[in-house]
Amino acid sequence: MRFLITAGPTREPIDPIRYLSNRSSGKMGYAIAEAAIEAGHEVILISGPVALNRPHGAAVIPISTSDQMFDAVQQQTRNCDVLVMCAAVADYKPVAVFTTKLKKRDAKLALELIPTRDILSSLPKTRKYFVVGFAAETENIETNAQKKLLKKNCDVIVANDARVGMESDENEVEIYFRDAEKKTISRASKRIVARELMKIFEKYFEKRLTKKTQ
Ligand code: C5P
Repeated sequence: MRFLITAGPTREPIDPIRYLSNRSSGKMGYAIAEAAIEAGHEVILISGPVALNRPHGAAVIPISTSDQMFDAVQQQTRNCDVLVMCAAVADYKPVAVFTTKLKKRDAKLALELIPTRDILSSLPKTRKYFVVGFAAETENIETNAQKKLLKKNCDVIVANDARVGMESDENEVEIYFRDAEKKTISRASKRIVARELMKIFEKYFEKRLTKKTQ
């Protein structure tokens, strides 16, 4: 199978030296890339800025902004069987980027933000590849994950409590499917969680293929 995996945060520039970002370490996405390679799959990894070694055997496309990630995903989905959107893409970016360094003043400063383009929602509704979205939540995890599954037209959503998974070496996830099926992977290292996720993706993908050829 050909996996397209996104990982890490994006950086939305404010001026030449400042940006808006988030605490995503990229560890979960990189662990999924490694688990896919271990299982004999091809991997293209679109990665935001992270402090991790590139997984051996993966083709890595480094990006910085949400717009760059948007373009890279649009291009690479042409040749993938499974898209895993693990990246913590910024939901907002500054309306305008200052071309010179913003000077400090003795006054309040308001930064105007606009929503970024949602990558998952922009994918075609009928497509050949299987789409896995992620939902890092701090409250009402199940309800929010189910909503994202439908709104972002994913085949599967992997949800976690952001307070457990963010920056950590461990994670604990719940997986929601379109047919209301739900699976849980209890707390373990991200490497173990990634291997379990890989088994689920492989099984689900095979099931889809069997259905299509029937
Ligand atoms: O809405 P929220 O950011 O919580 O959704 C998380 C999921 O949506 C993740 O799979 C993330 O990669 C994806 N996402 C996206 N485009 C964005 C923001 C998030 O595809 N602009």
